[in-house]
Amino acid sequence: MPEGDTIFRAARTLNRALAGKVITKFETVLPKLSRINEDHPLAGRAIESVNASGKWMHMHLSGDLVLLTHMRMNGSWHIYRAAERWQRPKRDMRIVIATDDFVAVGFNIPVAEFHSERSLIQRSAVSKLGNDVLAADFDAAAVIFALKASPDTGIGDALLRQSLIAGLGNVYKSEVCFACRVNPFRSISALTEAELECLVLSARKILLANVQEHSDSQIITYAGMRRTTGRSNPADRLWVYGRAGEPCRRCGAAIVSSKEAENARVTFWCPRCQQ
Ligand SMILES: [Zn+2]
Repeated sequence: MPEGDTIFRAARTLNRALAGKVITKFETVLPKLSRINEDHPLAGRAIESVNASGKWMHMHLSGDLVLLTHMRMNGSWHIYRAAERWQRPKRDMRIVIATDDFVAVGFNIPVAEFHSERSLIQRSAVSKLGNDVLAADFDAAAVIFALKASPDTGIGDALLRQSLIAGLGNVYKSEVCFACRVNPFRSISALTEAELECLVLSARKILLANVQEHSDSQIITYAGMRRTTGRSNPADRLWVYGRAGEPCRRCGAAIVSSKEAENARVTFWCPRCQQ
């Protein structure tokens, strides 16, 4: 499942490649979108900006049209030079937006809608997005308040609930709980104020660290090199996620994992550090 930082980076890459450009070709296999395109053609419109809100991506076009997409488990946006070969098969293509020099391709995108700026605001209210951990106006106190309103929810599940805190996926859920030495299955009512604060602030800190830019950054397709440990060696990138059976980087105990049948989300934690 893409995390908020992946969407944020994808939006930034698309924005850099496409903002200010005019759409030369629009193609989609999604009937809802192609109907709008027939009535209100996208070709000829300018792409004003691309930004992310939680796990939603907004592409603002001239003439009061916004393309809203959500990646869920398998969706992704790629950006290619005009003649470049796609890295995914054509059958996974859902949306193509071409400009003179770049082609943005949405693969396996499950949720895609056109909106006006106004209906987008209404839609955002309906989907009840919580505070976006990457937003400049992130409000930690408001998130803690929202979490406490679900006292019986396990903290691991709560961190994934986009209506409470927007932007975290399965990887960061496990990593954030480890950072604060909190067992992901503890219910919110059992957490101290200091633990709640640590979780919320760590979520923001870790995601922000993963969207930092390097000065030599170019337009590339994001390769998935996320890290939370601050180490750059690929094998050392994460504390617990994907490391079942391996020694805890803090205490040496074997990391354990569990897969909940209901939502098939794997959780990783250190049984000694995270009581
Ligand atoms: Zn440990």
